[in-house]
Amino acid sequence: MHTPLCGHAEGAPEEYVACARSLGIPEVCFTDHAPAPDGYDPITRMTIDKFVEYKRMISDAAKAQDITVLYGIEADYYPGCEKFQTQWLKSEPFDLVIGSVHFIGNWGFDNPANMAVWKSTDTVEAWRSYFELAARMASTGLYDIVAHLDLPKKFGHLLPVNDCRREINDALDAMATTGMTIEINTSGLRRKIADTYPSRDLLEMARRHGIPVCFGSDAHKPADVGFAFDKALALAREAGYTETVTYRQRRSTTVPLP
Ligand code: ZN
Ligand code: FE
Repeated sequence: MHTPLCGHAEGAPEEYVACARSLGIPEVCFTDHAPAPDGYDPITRMTIDKFVEYKRMISDAAKAQDITVLYGIEADYYPGCEKFQTQWLKSEPFDLVIGSVHFIGNWGFDNPANMAVWKSTDTVEAWRSYFELAARMASTGLYDIVAHLDLPKKFGHLLPVNDCRREINDALDAMATTGMTIEINTSGLRRKIADTYPSRDLLEMARRHGIPVCFGSDAHKPADVGFAFDKALALAREAGYTETVTYRQRRSTTVPLP
């Protein structure tokens, strides 16, 4: 779940928690976009001086007695981020850190403002580059959870699985090796693509690699919280999962699916 500090989400953290409460969700985690002091993608994230405010907002929301509110962050991986993130992520007492890939080189491929670039881009090459970055992300060992695994499909450029088997397998191998979890992210169900990230075939591959799953709504407003979790849960079971994981202070615990 995000907060208004990233500049493209709305609603107070307490409102997100209230939505979770109304759905009977026992545990949530805020994972807003991490600051990047080197100037990476400044439009969609809080500045580092706002981070103290983020911390305060989450600890205030965590005063809720009836719901567990975890302290997390979504940290974008990009080549060159390692120096800052290696220091910074461990300097904060996060419960969990989500790693994501939103850029191939200088191209923010999931940003509607950059959508036209898809017209002049080879789709197979874009997906291969994306999974190579996802593998590099996993190999850093900096993150606990993989965000929206097949995000490049956002505008309809579906994953050509057969053309990318090697890259997909390398990425999943790296995620399995470093003990990452994959989220079933329901935000794609709110968009034209009308599918979870990842889609079912990719989720089945993840299961065959022994990678655990967790659930995320990627809420950017309170009403998104828990969106389509019934579908996400059914999908996890269809893909062969019987368990999920929860995090405290960056350590995961396996629990049965609800
Ligand atoms: Zn966002
Ligand atoms: Fe993201």
